[in-house]
Amino acid sequence: MNDLWTITCRTLSSRLSDEALETWFAPVVFSGLRDATLQLRVPTRFHGEWMTQHYQRIILTTVQDTLTAAGEAHLAPSRLAFVVDPSLVSPVRPRASTPPSEPERAPVRAAEAVTQPELNPKYTFESFVVGGSNQLAHAASLAAATQPGKRYNPLFLCGGVGLGKTHLVNAIGQHILATKPGARILYVSAETFTNEFISSIKNHQMETFRRTYREQCDVLLMDDIQFIAKRESTMEEFFHTFNALHLADRQIVVTSDVYPENLDGMEARIISRFQSGMVADIQAPDVDTRVAILEKKAEVEGIELDKGVANFVAQTVKSNVRELEGTLLRLAVQAELLGKRMDLELARQALRASHPRVDSATSVEDIQKAVCDYYGLRLADLKSKRRQHSVSFPRMLAMYLCRQHLGVSYPELGSQFGGKDHTTVLYAVRKISGLVEEHDMAATAPIHAIERRLGF
Ligand code: ADP
Ligand code: MG
Repeated sequence: MNDLWTITCRTLSSRLSDEALETWFAPVVFSGLRDATLQLRVPTRFHGEWMTQHYQRIILTTVQDTLTAAGEAHLAPSRLAFVVDPSLVSPVRPRASTPPSEPERAPVRAAEAVTQPELNPKYTFESFVVGGSNQLAHAASLAAATQPGKRYNPLFLCGGVGLGKTHLVNAIGQHILATKPGARILYVSAETFTNEFISSIKNHQMETFRRTYREQCDVLLMDDIQFIAKRESTMEEFFHTFNALHLADRQIVVTSDVYPENLDGMEARIISRFQSGMVADIQAPDVDTRVAILEKKAEVEGIELDKGVANFVAQTVKSNVRELEGTLLRLAVQAELLGKRMDLELARQALRASHPRVDSATSVEDIQKAVCDYYGLRLADLKSKRRQHSVSFPRMLAMYLCRQHLGVSYPELGSQFGGKDHTTVLYAVRKISGLVEEHDMAATAPIHAIERRLGF
C-alpha cells in the first residue's frame, strides 16, 4: 500500500510544479487507507489545511485512478485525513514562522488576495509537439512570445478541451520570462479574475485590483475567457482592463473553447476586440501527432514505451491530448502495480472497459476478414504461401492495416498470417506504406474502403 502513495506522487509530478511537490508533498508520509479515508501524516496542522484547500481533489482523483487501474476501485477513498506528526520536517520557509497552531494567519489568506499564480513549469514550447492541428496556434504563440505587444495583439487561442491551450499560454509566459526576466506576467484563469474582482469589490480593494491588472502588468494571459460571458460587471471590468493594456501595447493572450463570435453571452464590443487581433484555433491532433505526443510524454516521464503500444493507444484514444496523456500514465502505473511490462496485451486489457471498440474492431482476424471480403478471397488464402499478385497484394495490405491500426509486432503478425517470417511482414508493411505515401490509388482506394468498413 505504501506504493500507492509513491505512485500517486509520481503521477502528480506531471501535473504539479516541482516547487509544489517539494514543499507540500515531499514531507508527507502515507499512513493508511481505511473506511474510504486516505490518511496522511503531515508536519503541522497548517500543512494539512493547506493540502486540503489546494490539493484534496487532485489527490483523491489520482488515488482513485491508480486504484481503478489496478482493479481495486472499491478501495477508492473519498476523504483525506491528516495526522500531525511534528517529527516530520516542514520545509515551509519564512512565512512558516507563523505558528502552525494558528492557521488563520497563514498564507492561505494571502492566496485569496490578488496574486500572481505561477506558470506551470512543465508547459513550455520545448515540451509542445507541433502537428498540422496546432501549427498555426503554435506559430502565433511563439511570435507573441518573441515580440510581445507587437505583432499578434491580442492573440486569441481557441479549441476544444484538452487540446493544449493552457499549455501554449503558459509557454508564452515562460518564454517571455526567460528572455525578459523583469517582465510582469499575469497568468490567470477568467474564473480567478472573476473571483478576485468580486472579492475586491467586497473588500473595497478595487484600486489594488485595477493597479494589478492595468498598471503592474506587462503581459496578461487570460485562460478560458468563456467563463466571464453573461457576467455583466466582470465583462465590463475586463473590457476596461483590456483597453488599458492594449493602449499601452502590453501583450494580451486569451484562450477560449470557441471562436470569439461563438462566445455566447459575451459583449459584442469585447468580441470585436478579440477579432481585431490574431485568432488561431487548435484542432484535435491526427494520429501521427498523437503518437509523437505520447512519445514525448513518455520521454519526459521516463516511461518505457514500445512503438506498438504508442500506435495502439494513439489509435484508440482520439478525443484529446489530456486523455491521451492520462491513458499513458494509467498504463504505466498499472504495469508497475502488476509487475508487468507495458506491452500491447496490457494496453488492450486496460483500455477495454473505456473503449469498447478495442475488443470488436481491432482484432487481426477482423482485418483479415474485411480484406478477404473486399477481394473475394478466403481466410486460408491470406494465410497461405501463394505468391500470385491477386493473393499476395491483399495479404500485404492486411498486414499493413494490422500494423497501422493495431500496432501488432512483426513476429506476432507473421505467426497470425500462417507462420511467415517477420522480415516478410516488415517488407509488406514498408511496401504498402511506400504506395500510400505516393498516393497510389491501387493501395489507397482499397485501404480506405476497408477502413470504412471496419469503422476506423
Ligand atoms: P486545454 O487548456 O486546451 O484544455 P491543456 O493545455 O491543459 O488543454 O492540455 C492538456 C494536456 O495535454 C496537458 O498536459 C498538455 O501538456 C498536453 N498537451 C496538449 N497539447 C499538446 C501538444 N501539442 N504537445 C504536448 N503536450 C500537449
Ligand atoms: Mg485549459
